[in-house]
Amino acid sequence: MAKKKRGLKEEYNLLTRDLDWDPTFVTREEMYPYTDFEGIKIHNWNNLEDPFRVTVESYVRIQGEKERKFHAIRENIDLLQGQLDMTDARWLEAMKIFSSVALNGEYNAHRLFQFIARHVPSPAIRFAAITQSVDELRHVQNEVLLFNNYNKYYQGFHDWKNYAHRHWLTSVVKSFFEDAQSAGPFEALVAIAFGFEVAFTNLLFVTMGATAVANRDQSYGAVSFTTQSDESRHMTLGMMALRAMIEEDPDNIPIVQKFLDKWFWKAYRAFTVVGYILDYIAPKKVMSWKEAYEMYIEDQVLNGLFKDLEVYGIRKPKYWEQTVQEKEHNSHIAALVLYRLPHVLYFHPFAPTEEDKKWLAEKYPESWENIWSKKWEAFEDPNFDRLYPGLPMVCQTCQYPMFFDEPGQPGFNTAFRTSEHEGEVYHFCSDGCKDIFDDEPDKIKQAWLPPHEIFKGTCGPAEDLANYWGMEPEDGGDYYESVDHQNFEKWKKVRA
Ligand code: FE
Ligand code: ZN
Repeated sequence: MAKKKRGLKEEYNLLTRDLDWDPTFVTREEMYPYTDFEGIKIHNWNNLEDPFRVTVESYVRIQGEKERKFHAIRENIDLLQGQLDMTDARWLEAMKIFSSVALNGEYNAHRLFQFIARHVPSPAIRFAAITQSVDELRHVQNEVLLFNNYNKYYQGFHDWKNYAHRHWLTSVVKSFFEDAQSAGPFEALVAIAFGFEVAFTNLLFVTMGATAVANRDQSYGAVSFTTQSDESRHMTLGMMALRAMIEEDPDNIPIVQKFLDKWFWKAYRAFTVVGYILDYIAPKKVMSWKEAYEMYIEDQVLNGLFKDLEVYGIRKPKYWEQTVQEKEHNSHIAALVLYRLPHVLYFHPFAPTEEDKKWLAEKYPESWENIWSKKWEAFEDPNFDRLYPGLPMVCQTCQYPMFFDEPGQPGFNTAFRTSEHEGEVYHFCSDGCKDIFDDEPDKIKQAWLPPHEIFKGTCGPAEDLANYWGMEPEDGGDYYESVDHQNFEKWKKVRA
């Protein structure tokens, strides 16, 4: 006898939600030991609905199709030497940064969602977290394959794993994920599902993806496309979790607000380097950091999402005004600082060309002429020593060197905050980073700060840091003097 075909909802319940069970050998509290750790109250875990309702069968089928498409495109690009279609190999400096921070980031997101799937006692969240954790693994693998091809021809891609674990710059993103992984399951969810996925991920895969395509880097374009196609599911999980916490109990509001304040600021700081990529590295520029910030963060997050959350008593994240003010400045600050560090980077920084400067003047009418172009001009003085000597002081919380300016005083006054804890002084780049420390000093004091570790001797002899970081001499230095630049010009001629 033919069986009646099951509806989608019934299928979803059978294959996901009904797999949840009541433990009999242990109590529920023993099975989920972290549920109460952060003070979040959820009265009925079954109230939480996964609006995506994906089943294992449909998940595997859809992801399988994406994979087949992506790998066909990728192999084709590799085979036809698609990298030579690029506007300029300078674009790959962005890919070097991406390879060292994003691969480790995606993998850590994978681990984090395994943790959430294990410890949040809601079948809907658990299942959505499991699929996301598998997505993140797919992202890492695809990105490794992408960089595998670049690595055949260009410097700076050969040891991304070492860079990700040891280099001073990648410590920013590494510490972001380690903070989230060592938090309770609800904070972990807000950190990644809100901070990364809902708020900032568009900047990484939409804006940077469009910029890659404009620079005819079809490989990163394809990776962005397939990665971003998972994002709607990830954002849905982020929003579902956020709403559940907010709606289940009014006592959750101040806790959630604190999570939002912290992770908005942390994600914002971590993404500073994307501004450098959009405004400086990209040979052909599509959208400035300022424009991207207005579109994705101001319009969609601050004035969109947070407007909707107002009715629950949630306000915009602390220091959001400062982030809006800084959109005019921070990419320039990062570019100027990195320009002075070609000897300790695994990619090639450079000064903006005349063409770059024209674009920057157009996009930053309020600050380029008056502040930032003058800072670049200072390097033209032959007596000005480009190389920054010694090690920078870094922020205890975000781990960027202390290069951000005092709010409202761009270009002239580096911001500097301190806190005392157990007789030790800790340093911060901003009020946002200081607040995060002051709230959890015993956690943040344990941060592994590269300059401190170098001084302590845990990174081997100081004169041999390049070796510790896994760098080869050709990895660093100025782009316009690099082997990468020379090779690209040579190969392009041969091909034409
Ligand atoms: Fe991902
Ligand atoms: Zn900071």
